[in-house]
Amino acid sequence: MIKSYAIISDGKGHSRLENIVVRPPDETEILVEVKAAGICRTDINKISRIGESFIPGHEGAGLVLETGNQVTKIKPGDRVLLNWAMPCNACYQCDLGNQNLCETNSPIVSGTKYFSKTLNTALFSGQPIPRLFNLGTFSKHTVVKESAVTKIDADIPYPLAGIVSCSVLTGFGSVVHTAKVSAGSSVAVIGCGGIGMNVIQSAKLSKAKTIIAIDTDTKRLNLSKTFGSTHQLLANPAEPDLQSTLAQIKALTDGRGTDFCFECTDIPALSVVPLAMIRHGGTAVQISGVEQELTVDMSLFEFDKKYINPLYGNCIPEKDIPRILSLYQSNEYKLEEQITQVYPLEDFELMFKKISNKEVLKGVFIIS
Ligand SMILES: [Zn+2]
Ligand SMILES: [Zn+2]
Repeated sequence: MIKSYAIISDGKGHSRLENIVVRPPDETEILVEVKAAGICRTDINKISRIGESFIPGHEGAGLVLETGNQVTKIKPGDRVLLNWAMPCNACYQCDLGNQNLCETNSPIVSGTKYFSKTLNTALFSGQPIPRLFNLGTFSKHTVVKESAVTKIDADIPYPLAGIVSCSVLTGFGSVVHTAKVSAGSSVAVIGCGGIGMNVIQSAKLSKAKTIIAIDTDTKRLNLSKTFGSTHQLLANPAEPDLQSTLAQIKALTDGRGTDFCFECTDIPALSVVPLAMIRHGGTAVQISGVEQELTVDMSLFEFDKKYINPLYGNCIPEKDIPRILSLYQSNEYKLEEQITQVYPLEDFELMFKKISNKEVLKGVFIIS
């Protein structure tokens, strides 16, 4: 058993730093010393909504300390990135090429929603403690499946690797795989947070001609220029259907609407607004993952419009993580610029507060 520590959340809004022990890896697992962990909005939401104790954190990077006998691709001493989508590559959906919808291992699709209790590898007060999406990266050590791990090069700092596996891949994949944004096209992005900025820079990477950033915060709109937005529209939070913004979008697109529109706000009322923003035959992508009931004007779907709510941007971790890291190494993808707050894990309360108040675009914990 390895003595360690982690943030334990009670799932009702309270978190504490506590001592835990971590069991050694079985034949197919890997023990990782976590060096950096990105914080995603999902962590903040789950900390107050799950209702039972768990270790949060589902992005991260660290050093491999120990591997099981059947682990072939990774060895102790490797620097690795952790991701929560761990396709089995053997189920019905994996065979179809939908690894993001893996029926065996996805904590979201497989019905367990947040974590699988059969994958508990940590103990708190002598009892198994679940880890968010079977990672629990807000922890000094974690034991994970080999499929959760991607080896990274020596020149990629841990804090940068520690943000790639959720918001970066979700934004990138939603543009490249889900919507297939084309060269010369027009793109509107509602919400310039962690995912929105990745949508913007992936649209630029896809050579979109017009990239319209929409937000209620002028600072974020200014920052969106760094990632490639060509136009910035300040939305009025008093307009739940963004009517004034819609008029501006129409004015910028000959009255037609954009080819693509992405919603990345986590505001349920905005989840169908992308349909109003796009041209006939255009593509609306709702990334927030809204699950609330809404009353929808079905005429918004008229005239060949497509509406998609992708999971994980249809990404396949073993292909897309190396692709993002290689784009970063060739200066074609910005990672440093996304990180606006770095704290040691001990300062978790301050970090959670700042993220809840939207003072942070992307926060990273350094664990030492
Ligand atoms: Zn996430
Ligand atoms: Zn599968």
